[in-house]
Amino acid sequence: MLAQRLTNLHPYVPGEQPTDREYIKLNANENPYPPHSSVADAVKVAAETHREKLGLYPDPDVTDLRQAIADMINATGGVFANTSIAGTTCTPSDKNKTSFKITKDMIFCGNGSDEVLSFVFYTFFDSDRPLVMPEFTYSFYPVYCGYYNIPMNPIPLQKDWSLNVQTMLAEANKTDSSLIFANPNAPTGIALTRAQVADILKKAPKSRIVVVDEAYADFGSESCIPLLQEFSNLVIVRTFSKSLSFAGMRLGYIISSPELTKAVFTVKNSFNHFPVDFLAKTAAIASCKAAWYYAENAKKIVAERDSFTTFLRNRGWFVIDSSTNFVFTKKEGTSGTAIYEAIKKEGILIRHFNTPGIEDFVRITIGTHEQMDALKKIMEAI
Ligand SMILES: *Cc1c(COP(=O)(O)O)cnc(C)c1O
Repeated sequence: MLAQRLTNLHPYVPGEQPTDREYIKLNANENPYPPHSSVADAVKVAAETHREKLGLYPDPDVTDLRQAIADMINATGGVFANTSIAGTTCTPSDKNKTSFKITKDMIFCGNGSDEVLSFVFYTFFDSDRPLVMPEFTYSFYPVYCGYYNIPMNPIPLQKDWSLNVQTMLAEANKTDSSLIFANPNAPTGIALTRAQVADILKKAPKSRIVVVDEAYADFGSESCIPLLQEFSNLVIVRTFSKSLSFAGMRLGYIISSPELTKAVFTVKNSFNHFPVDFLAKTAAIASCKAAWYYAENAKKIVAERDSFTTFLRNRGWFVIDSSTNFVFTKKEGTSGTAIYEAIKKEGILIRHFNTPGIEDFVRITIGTHEQMDALKKIMEAI
């Protein structure tokens, strides 16, 4: 009774969302700070004063939201942790300034970047050649390869857990293939510099797409947004889930050339015209206007991350330098599962992986100062 294609599906398993007791959740890279109060206010006003809108189809192109995202990117440079904040005004660091403005025709929005990635895979990757990606990266990419029947060519990481850029490029050129990777990468937390990504774009097949997933770029790596001026085959995927405290409301987007962005619209309009509903759109526009608040939170998370990294290293843990809102760490002689179990017993959830090669590691989301203090106490004791 089931379609043949179901045999290709190997669903993604998200960080657990248990309901049996109240845990401190440091397992899904959610933001520990709630959305700014103006976001809840905007939703309330929209639902009360424009109640009729809840019964009408929303704008399929979310034009005003795409403008708000463009304005936010232009104001922050696309890296919250590195902006300077004065009152409610953000200014990009010199490093993140672009000589051009992002416009709304370069932006496409969807119901979380997982959905946006699904559209991106459908739009740009064919079944006739393998897609080149790191062996360990966001584990949704192999899932979509199965979903769309795209062969893949996973390239092992280097000994230091960084991307093997040379081999990725050699393989992409051998098969004239597109590439996809997260930058910073997950679950390692390691970021390539913008110059390194520019080098990939220079050496990758010109008629193929390079997708850079910047889910964590707001936590202090170098965004590739300035490279859009030079490379028309670059597609940057971003999410509101992590740095904009939006995981429960769902919003992701791409930034790319107007031509490629338009192609993704064609795919979206062949699947679901309205992936961003009226309330999510309202909340997202309010979030963009409160970028300064999220930038402050990103700075707090970065400070907490660096202090937690030091804490772990002082106690003999191996910790990879992170450019994200999580750390990827292991302790000699202890399995990831054992660490996860011990910490869960004390009321905190972290993530472990059963994938061979990284089964010793745990991935710990950076929470508030109080949450990290609680975690440190537990780790001290076990
Ligand atoms: C969290 C994450 C996403 C998914 O984000 P959503 O917008 O919540 O769907 C995409 N890519 C990477 C690398 C992520 O870590």
